[in-house]
Amino acid sequence: MNKQTATKNLDEVITKVEGARLKISEHHIVKIIGVSKYSTDADVKILYEAGQRAFGENKVQDLKQKMEGLDELPIEWHFIGTLQKNKINNLIDLNPTLIQSLDSLDLALELNKKLEAKNKKLSALLQINSAYEDTKSGVLPENALEVYKQILKLCPNIILKGIMSIGAHVQDEKIIKESFKTTKKIYDELVPFGAKYCSMGMSSDFELAIACGSNMIRVGSTLFKD
Ligand SMILES: *Cc1c(COP(=O)(O)O)cnc(C)c1O
Repeated sequence: MNKQTATKNLDEVITKVEGARLKISEHHIVKIIGVSKYSTDADVKILYEAGQRAFGENKVQDLKQKMEGLDELPIEWHFIGTLQKNKINNLIDLNPTLIQSLDSLDLALELNKKLEAKNKKLSALLQINSAYEDTKSGVLPENALEVYKQILKLCPNIILKGIMSIGAHVQDEKIIKESFKTTKKIYDELVPFGAKYCSMGMSSDFELAIACGSNMIRVGSTLFKD
């Protein structure tokens, strides 16, 4: 990806985000996370220079490599993938800005224990499987409020900042929209408990996600395309 392409890709995403968010309100701010999992350090650097500051990776090893390769840049790194328990310590040591993929109470308890042992805290989002898909991780919508409150109560070293969800993996826009609405409803109920981020929307559906109330999108392929 050259500089011109990166700037064009980013401009296109920003223009679409602006269009979608202003339909809600001037005050509805949407944070863009560039998902760099398909990309090289060089591509991330080019996008950084075009103005993108936050990036996400879905494997602990890849996050570590990208962070080390790009450590001269003040990038904000997010972890967005399934977290294996044997990788928790490695992830803590990387100190990401936000773990978006806390997908069970069990994982939260384990993460909290390891954070306690290292005397550290990390920010995280609870992942919700709003589309009820077997292939996706996350807590089911009907359990989300309870699990969120349990983590708040039992995991003082995890700073919970909201929820994350992946839209339904189907063509039918109505079904995708339903999954976003389900997520937004849970988010609204968690705002009184300190939730700040409703992370939903990817390359194919971020405008719809914003229309449904998303304030954080994770875009990979459309940002890094040649
Ligand atoms: C890969 C990935 C994305 C980005 O997907 P694109 O369709 O390439 O934008 C967003 N969120 C998660 C959790 C991902 O794994």
